[in-house]
Amino acid sequence: MRRFFVDPKCIKDRKAELRGSDASHLYNVLRLKDGDLIELFDGGGRVYQAQINSGGRDQVNLTLLGVDDAPPAGLSISLGQAMLKNKKMELIVQKCTELGVKSIHPFISSHSKAAAPDQEKIRRWQRIILESCKQCNQPYPPACHPAHPLTDILTGASTGASAGATDFDLRLICWEKPEAPPLRQVVEKTFNPDSILVLTGPEGGFSSGEIKLARAAGFLPVGLGPRILRAETAAIVIIALLQYIFNDLQSTGHLE
Ligand code: SAH
Repeated sequence: MRRFFVDPKCIKDRKAELRGSDASHLYNVLRLKDGDLIELFDGGGRVYQAQINSGGRDQVNLTLLGVDDAPPAGLSISLGQAMLKNKKMELIVQKCTELGVKSIHPFISSHSKAAAPDQEKIRRWQRIILESCKQCNQPYPPACHPAHPLTDILTGASTGASAGATDFDLRLICWEKPEAPPLRQVVEKTFNPDSILVLTGPEGGFSSGEIKLARAAGFLPVGLGPRILRAETAAIVIIALLQYIFNDLQSTGHLE
């Protein structure tokens, strides 16, 4: 069944509305008709079964037939990603959404070549996130934050009081140098965390000073093997591995 995100503000008394590009997509591209059934996600874990009543190019009116609460998101894995060139960031945002990250925290470090994203870019990432969620049946879209200096991420100043770095049970930093112990060795020594923050660096890597600061802030360096991965590969790989080790990549079946 076709899925759409609905702004919770557009739900009232068993009625909902889809507006703007979603409305025209529904009628003009997908060719859905009045009476057809669709699913609506509210971005907070509720999934509605809805029937199309009426509408036009700018607005579709729906009747809500039922509602389910999606299972809780489980372990939360957040990605701190050094700013990379446009297309690479978009790839990371898309793939890490598919892999179920809780939030994405872009940052600027000493070897970052790309500038902090402007509002327009963050809005574009948010659109990619929602498209990705629709496609992969992910009821919890990750939060995408504005960029901060790496030091703010290390101290938790940028990730919010309740999600500050010190509030993550496990903090990791991907480091390609041979001194970094392999991921397997690091996780073998750890208990089962409820929340993880993992950082991956820019094309130019982290400086040794940054690794030192990260260590002092409680981040554990981890290696992903002897090959130096492209920054965007490293981000996707570490999220997939953490999901496999600690979370839901070991279960089968789709999220209901
Ligand atoms: N400029 C560096 C490579 C940076 S790779 C060089 O050429 O030597 C970009 C980022 O990807 C790194 O900062 C690191 O976070 C991650 N990364 C790449 N390969 C990795 C590996 N084998 N182990 C851990 N992290 C890796």
